[in-house]
This record gives sequence, C-alpha cells and structure tokens, in this order.
Amino acid sequence: MNEFGLIARYFDWPAPAGWLGVGDDAALVPLTADRELAVSVDMMIEGRHFFADADPGCLARKALAVNLSDMAAMGAEPKWFTLSLALPEIDVDWLGSFSLGLREMADEYGVVLVGGDTTRGPLAISIQIAGEVPAGQALLRSGGKPGDDVWVSGPLGAAAAAVMHRLGRVELPPKLRGQCEIRLDLPVPRVQLGVRLRGLASAALDISDGLVADLGHICERSGCGAEIMLPEVPYPRELDCLPETLLEEAILAGGDDYELCFTAPAASRSRIEALGLDLGMALARIGSLTEGDGVRVCREDGLRLELARAGFDHFS
Ligand code: ADP
Ligand code: MG
Repeated sequence: MNEFGLIARYFDWPAPAGWLGVGDDAALVPLTADRELAVSVDMMIEGRHFFADADPGCLARKALAVNLSDMAAMGAEPKWFTLSLALPEIDVDWLGSFSLGLREMADEYGVVLVGGDTTRGPLAISIQIAGEVPAGQALLRSGGKPGDDVWVSGPLGAAAAAVMHRLGRVELPPKLRGQCEIRLDLPVPRVQLGVRLRGLASAALDISDGLVADLGHICERSGCGAEIMLPEVPYPRELDCLPETLLEEAILAGGDDYELCFTAPAASRSRIEALGLDLGMALARIGSLTEGDGVRVCREDGLRLELARAGFDHFS
C-alpha cells in the first residue's frame, strides 16, 4: 500500500452534499450562500522534510509557503492559519528566528496566526490554513476535459536538483547550487495566479510530488489521460549540466518546486498568455489532456519516455 492507497482505504470518507472532502489540495466547506471556506494542512518533520541544521527562519517560511501553495492551487484567498509545533527543547535563538520568519511570511501574504498547539517531541511543524473562495469558483483537480491544454506556472527541477546535491547524487557548481537551494528552501506560493485563474482554468493543483505524479492526480479525478511534450516543459537551462536521466527525473518527478499545474480549454490560450504577461510569469503550455488514463511523456523525437519513478511517495 502506498501513501494514496492508505488514504483511500482508511480516510477517504464521504463528505456532505455541497462539500468537497478528501482528495483535492484543500477541502471546501460552504460558509454562506456565496462563499466557501478552503481548508488544508501540511506537516514537516525533521529528517523527512528537512535536515536538523535547517535555518529556523527558512523552515517557518517554507511551512507556511507550502500551505499557501495549496490555497493557490484552489484559487482561494488565504485568510488565517494555526500552528502545531513539537520541539525537543526550548531554544530561544531558534524560536526567535522561527517566529520572525513566520511573521514576515504571514505579513507578506496577509494571513493571520489564530491558534495552534505546542508540545515536546521530535521537531515537527504542522500548519493548517484556511482561505475563502466565491462559491463554485474554486479550482478543483476534477474539472479537466480531454483536449484541454496543460500548463505549468514556471520552471521545474531546481528544487529536486538541490535535493540530489544534498543526497550526494550530483555535485552542483556553487552558484547553481545556491540558485537551486533557494527554490527548495523558499518556494514562492503562486497565490495571485491561483486567484486570477478562477473562471479560466478547468483544473489545477500545486506540484509538490512531481509533475507526472501530480498531473496524474488531475487525470484520475478528471477521468482522462494526459500527454506532456518534454521539450516544452520549462526548467532552468543551467541544469543542462546534469546527466540526462537525472535532469529528466528532476523535471518530471521532482517535487518541492510548488509551481502550479493547471488545465484550460484551448479557447483560453490568449487570455492565459495575457495573464502571464500581466503577472510577469512565464506560464508554459506543456501538453494536453487526452481520452483514456495515465500521463505519457513524449520526447522531441516523438518517442515515449519511461520514468523509473513518477514522483514522491512517503511509503513507496
Ligand atoms: P497535497 O500534496 O496537496 O498536500 P496530499 O497528496 O498530501 O495533498 O493528500 C492528498 C489528499 O488526501 C488531500 O486531499 C488530503 O487532504 C488528503 N489526506 C491526506 N492525509 C489524510 C488523512 N490522514 N486523513 C484524511 N485525509 C487525508
Ligand atoms: Mg497540494
């Protein structure tokens, strides 16, 4: 059983009519006739998501960023969050930097810390976030249709390359290493883009497990397949120094970039391009949804690429 099989077997409980339960980037709960509450939670554990010596200010920013990213993926406006902390000891320097980083990030995105829980234990950080979206306008994973374009909001692979370096799988030159580590340690949640994609995108999610795996979630929930054109998938050209298989793995199976992947009817192309210009973002059209199921990746020569691993799974 993998991570998703486990959730499906034990926790995929039916939600009341008009709610959206387990299976998307956030749950949706009706608030008023015209507003819905979007709720999501993400946990970061030492040794699993970060190393023991990680900078506490960065950790705080990232813990909030990955939650803001789930709001972005829903097209929701983030409003407030709660913070659960397990700490091995009271370290005032650590706590000072952590709370400052958290405060700065919260202020930047206009979200308010309204509660939490603190306990002693191995270092773990869990943030639950809530946002609002006009009723019926959230971006779901399930709205894609065969023929829709598949888009990503920016270059992929840098964060995965930083992980590869930290694990000793590659040796990045110092400048590139710095560039990749910023993407890994300080992901930028695409909140504004998410909000602006309401009414434009047919489906969306944030890429946290890898493009192929995450697009696979859109396919499953939308009841279709997808074809990605590898040469169209944006990545930092500096990564061309990686061996080809590692480069492909970083781009297609690397999580942690927290770009959005979204689909939209071909008729929306010019509006999406205009939106990209307006936001100063290089939105890239990388393929399309198809009939059938599963995600296929095509190389330039038209040949299909077989991936050794599609994405990150905590239990595989
Ligand atoms: P994301 O990558 O957007 O954070 P995940 O891949 O972690 O989403 O989770 C997939 C879906 O399963 C989400 O809708 C999430 O809310 C749900 N989920 C994960 N773990 C549990 C759990 N223990 N109980 C209920 N739902 C869960
Ligand atoms: Mg998500």
